Amino acid sequence: MVNDWGRRLRRWWSRLIADWRGGTTVLLEIVRECNQRCAYCYRLPDSRGPARRLAPAELDTVLERLTTHFGRLRLTITGGEPTLHPDLEAMVRRCVAVDPAATLITNLSTMTPALAGRLRAAGLRGIQVTFLSPVPAEHEALCGAGSFDRWLAGLTHAREAGLEVGAILLVTRPTARRVPESLRFLLGLGLGSFLVNRYNGGFPAKGGGEPPGPAPQQAPSRPATDDGLSTTDVPARGGDGPAPAAADPLPAAADPAGLFLTGGDLDRFLADLEEAGARWNLTIPLGVPIPSCLADLSRYPHLEFSACPIGRDRGMYWAVGADGALRACNHLPGSLGDLLTTPVADILRGEPWQRLRQELATVPAPCRGCPTFDRCRGGCRGAAATWAGSAAGLDPWVERVLAGRDREGPPG
Ligand code: SF4
Ligand code: SF4
Repeated sequence: MVNDWGRRLRRWWSRLIADWRGGTTVLLEIVRECNQRCAYCYRLPDSRGPARRLAPAELDTVLERLTTHFGRLRLTITGGEPTLHPDLEAMVRRCVAVDPAATLITNLSTMTPALAGRLRAAGLRGIQVTFLSPVPAEHEALCGAGSFDRWLAGLTHAREAGLEVGAILLVTRPTARRVPESLRFLLGLGLGSFLVNRYNGGFPAKGGGEPPGPAPQQAPSRPATDDGLSTTDVPARGGDGPAPAAADPLPAAADPAGLFLTGGDLDRFLADLEEAGARWNLTIPLGVPIPSCLADLSRYPHLEFSACPIGRDRGMYWAVGADGALRACNHLPGSLGDLLTTPVADILRGEPWQRLRQELATVPAPCRGCPTFDRCRGGCRGAAATWAGSAAGLDPWVERVLAGRDREGPPG
């Protein structure tokens, strides 16, 4: 059905270019708040808090400090929902000036033909979008009523404006059985690249499982732009079309723990992905680590597994919050230091970064003696930090699957 040679060639070429370009990847969270309350979001506590946007002049400071320390940067603009930024084009222009291949992650809910055209005119080449399920009700159970249609419409507008779209297929417990249909759907849309992520623990629900909810309709601040662009014609919510209604019914998955794949889900999900890879001649990259104690990774030659790059020589990436706080990964909470006031070198000499490195070097109890710990590190330790307060612990998902396997025995 699908010829993968074009895709493989594109991936090989972009890797070659990326290696040649080198550079340090940085996720810039230019807006803290979001207009959706997706049940799987790892930024929920922050995106529910007071609105905060990085001003263009603050972005200049951040980029200058990052470039001074790291040299070449590879930038991803994100949030919260970055299209809520009232000076979005000015922000994009600055990022594209530093990294011509800068990309933007969006939930597509505000994407209109006009906004897509302005982003393209500002120099943006591509966006990344998260996809849950081709069944609208399943997508909306996780992202809110109407989100599926907005996603599809936004995708169309973005592509018609000439933006390349990369999809992140997020696999949660309620959508795990849809993986083959989801892949078929994304390939049918002709998307040039995609990545598959298993659900990664965000923040546990507090108070017995407060459900994700609709974002309050906030009146955005309109800081004056300092590059001559007028903000008066920039719609308050970034897009030009109808904003998601404030009264959207809440996504159904009240307890994020219900999104974790079980051991059985994992086995089926990997088998489904492998079969899809074999049938369509695809190599499918998985972004969030899957440890080798949970699955025999050698059984899946069409899948490309990854390990956490934090603190390593290659693949390390950083995140900068809308308040200028530097973090070692977008999944890690807290702050290593304030980039608006402090050079990167001083931040990295500070106690928070040294403590984080020590935590990452700690071997969680279930991993003691594991021959692959140096590579695996116990899954995503950012999830350990968000879920249990310390990156010294085991990834909460790995912990759950191992406990399930202890009860039920390994897969047959
Ligand atoms: S390091 Fe820990 S999580 Fe990773 S494979 Fe070994 S036991 Fe499993
Ligand atoms: S902490 Fe988790 S999300 Fe961050 S880079 Fe490591 S594995 Fe990925």
